[in-house]
Amino acid sequence: MEGELIRASSPEEALAMKNNESAFFAGGTGIGYKDSGLKANRWILVPEISGIREIKTEDGLIRIGAMVSFTQALEDSAVPSYLKEALRFCGSLQKRNQATVGGNIASRRCDSYLIPALLASGARICLLAKEGTQTIGIEQYVDEPDRYRDALITAVCVKPDSAVSILSKRYANTVESHAYLTLSMGREGDDYRIGLAIKGGGLFHPDIMNWGIAWKKADVQDDMFGSEEYKRYLTQVTLETMYEKLGGEGGSAS
Ligand SMILES: Cc1cc2nc3c(=O)[nH]c(=O)nc-3n(C[C@H](O)[C@H](O)[C@H](O)COP(=O)(O)OP(=O)(O)OC[C@H]3O[C@@H](n4cnc5c(N)ncnc54)[C@H](O)[C@@H]3O)c2cc1C
Repeated sequence: MEGELIRASSPEEALAMKNNESAFFAGGTGIGYKDSGLKANRWILVPEISGIREIKTEDGLIRIGAMVSFTQALEDSAVPSYLKEALRFCGSLQKRNQATVGGNIASRRCDSYLIPALLASGARICLLAKEGTQTIGIEQYVDEPDRYRDALITAVCVKPDSAVSILSKRYANTVESHAYLTLSMGREGDDYRIGLAIKGGGLFHPDIMNWGIAWKKADVQDDMFGSEEYKRYLTQVTLETMYEKLGGEGGSAS
């Protein structure tokens, strides 16, 4: 990993240091390897803000601090089972010990372990930016990378299993290979949400009523993981099956 590793004396100082040339450093698993594509002159260790390493229940939601590791989240009984399923998509036990929930979200990867399930569940992201603290929907965070580039994720707030039903599916050659498709669908009352991560294509959260139209416009590539046609077919079949399993009627998932 190239660049200087620095520790700020306060969250304010960490935010002041953050610019185009610098980036936050959490578990470091998304940074310190060849071809990670992440470059910075200065890596700022995520500051120790209160609650950033804690999991707690608050107003019926589960608040997971950004520096909570995958292993810590998997071991905590408060974390909903649909999120644990997504955390287990990271097959390496060593990586689970080091990788953080905040680092995974901030990476916005097209093979993201957690973002599809978070999109499908309607999760909220707590941020600390130069303008102050804010809480936004995960879809806004995903859609506006430039706007939130210098913001520090402090926590993610997720709904309990009792509030949402989520189905997820990850397609990869092996548990440790990069996924070429990760799909989640969530149902909350009569509302459905979709979260998709398509390798080489990006992150999507199409509306359930017209996901096929939005999906046709998405840039999906032929690559070593499969043809565009294959990925589109697999996405369609998987979403239709999920919709049916969640009790959907009337063929909206098409
Ligand atoms: C072999 C290998 C395979 C991998 N496969 C996958 C995969 O299939 N899917 C996947 O999703 N990931 C994969 N990763 C990447 C990585 O392990 C995970 O994304 C991990 O969750 C990143 O968390 P971290 O704490 O290590 O983040 P870091 O590596 O510390 O940071 C990652 C990025 O997030 C930013 N960041 C970190 N914390 C914050 C914060 N609190 N606020 C704002 N920005 C922040 C950093 O600046 C950096 O840009 C892989 C990594 C390796 C080495």
